[in-house]
Amino acid sequence: MSPKDSYDQANEYLRLLLSYIGRNRIPVTPANYAVWYEYVAGSNHPLKTAIDEILTSSGQFSADINDELFEKYIVEKKILAGEKATLALQQILGLVSKCISESGGKISEYGATFEAMADKLQKENLDEDLLQIIIESVLDTTQKLLSRSAELDNNLQKTNQAISLLRDRLANEKIKATIDPLTGLANRRQFDKLLTKALDDTNQTGLDLSLLMLDIDHFKKVNDNHGHVVGDQVLSLCSSIIEKNIKGRDSAARYGGEEFVVILQDTPLNGALSVGEQIRSYFETRKWLKKGSGKTIGKITISIGASLYRKGESAKSFIQRADKALYMSKNNGRNQVTGENGQKPG
Ligand code: GH3
Ligand code: MG
Ligand code: MG
Repeated sequence: MSPKDSYDQANEYLRLLLSYIGRNRIPVTPANYAVWYEYVAGSNHPLKTAIDEILTSSGQFSADINDELFEKYIVEKKILAGEKATLALQQILGLVSKCISESGGKISEYGATFEAMADKLQKENLDEDLLQIIIESVLDTTQKLLSRSAELDNNLQKTNQAISLLRDRLANEKIKATIDPLTGLANRRQFDKLLTKALDDTNQTGLDLSLLMLDIDHFKKVNDNHGHVVGDQVLSLCSSIIEKNIKGRDSAARYGGEEFVVILQDTPLNGALSVGEQIRSYFETRKWLKKGSGKTIGKITISIGASLYRKGESAKSFIQRADKALYMSKNNGRNQVTGENGQKPG
């Protein structure tokens, strides 16, 4: 966003971008906002071309497409621009100091010349006052030049620091965009990406891929009886229990409120059922205590559904079968694990 965009212009962009975001049902997040701002402002040509192509071909937008555009055309562009600017400033800094030291050298040479001249002129009885004025003026210029150099140097250093900071912040934002802040697990968007990758892998390798869908039982009551702060603490503990019970290459994510998902690579359905059972029994037997007071929260249980990937199917139907299995667990009395065809852990 260029600072020269006038207030009215920015308002017009805002109106336009909100209409695009609304029309394409894209959530208003800072990243999505940035994409459409640059689109309507027309300053980011590669981004504009990419969006125009999508609009003319399928016309279908999603939060995911938006995310990809943000990373490809905005984050990378800004990081690149930041790096280029840093390099350019470093070069300028080098050049300026070289210039200053060179001109400083010349000025002291002039100083010597003036001294020699003064000597000569004095001997020749010429106007000493005039000469003094000229010398003062040269020294004054030298001083100004030197202080200007220090100021320039300082400004360039500040700009350099600001650019490095911006680059670090962008890198952090990129990481933050994948994480659920409450539980520290992958967020829903990151889960979608991880699942797409897992599907690609399994379609290539033919290895089993399973999915667990987990939902805390009667979680509303935890909030009602103990308050949201305790509810949040429980959610955060749940994520560590789930992570403790899965292996390195499996991935857990927060799917929504009190629902979690686990992608289990190279795992058949019975393997998924036993991982689910391990998590379920951990929940059941754990003593749930409030942080700080140490008072008990009571029993907390979790219901789980598992599905096995069928080669070539969509992520949506794979998730739906795990979800259906989860609802079998709920309908059969909760606190249990069920497979997509009603299977139970062995
Ligand atoms: P069920 O066994 O059928 O799943 O019952 P439930 O009460 O767990 O399910 P329901 O969908 O009725 O309620 C979910 C509750 O989870 C309601 C909502 O307030 C709570 N919840 C969702 N997200 C959060 C959160 O981030 N923090 C807290 N404290 N509570 C949350
Ligand atoms: Mg729920
Ligand atoms: Mg629930």
